[in-house]
Amino acid sequence: MSSRTSAPASIFILTGAGISAESGVETFRDKGGIWSKVRLEDVATPEAFMRDPEKVQAFYNARRASLKEVAPNPAHRALAKLEADYAGTVTLVTQNIDDLHERAGCRDVIHMHGELLIAFCAACGAREPAREALSPQDVCPRCGKVGTMRPDVVWFGEMPYHLDRILAALGEADLFVSIGTSGAVYPAAGFVAEAKRAGIETLELNLEPTEGSFQFDEARHGLASVLVPAFVEEVLAGCWG
Ligand SMILES: [Zn+2]
Repeated sequence: MSSRTSAPASIFILTGAGISAESGVETFRDKGGIWSKVRLEDVATPEAFMRDPEKVQAFYNARRASLKEVAPNPAHRALAKLEADYAGTVTLVTQNIDDLHERAGCRDVIHMHGELLIAFCAACGAREPAREALSPQDVCPRCGKVGTMRPDVVWFGEMPYHLDRILAALGEADLFVSIGTSGAVYPAAGFVAEAKRAGIETLELNLEPTEGSFQFDEARHGLASVLVPAFVEEVLAGCWG
């Protein structure tokens, strides 16, 4: 465990469902979450998309439409403030597919599981903004194929995005902060071990203790909308260190 002798020059932040749940975004894995009502094999795999694109598009269209009903909360806004005001480097990686970090004002968000508001052509790789519903009849604006435009979200069996950039940033960080994530989904669940191996200080901010809490140097439990602004104030005031 590193000693707090100076403010971290580089902070690596990982966010998960817990930060958006406080804005009213339905979670996937929690008790009562989406995967307790819908079989993920039916809607969140490449095979499901080939088998029943109508069903898969309808599922993600509903998620996309629901983003219009929610707004960023103080935790999202605090991270945007950190990104804007911190003298050091801030890397923000999210497992969330919503756009609440961006709407709070974050400029550089690494979406390791993709984004609901982008469509991706399974045939040619074209990416397009997708603010409204997608349909199996959609035509790719680049290659002209029909039915290949899918939500740009990482499905089960697919590789998360930006792992090279993420691991490089983690390797250069002085502090790893995990916010609102259960620590159950790999590869993100392995970041804390990676951070510890690199001798980086680690902090968990989560509603409740997680299976991985013991791996962190420090764990604080409570609402993200309370814990995250307090943490950001500490860092910006130079009290962290
Ligand atoms: Zn295409």
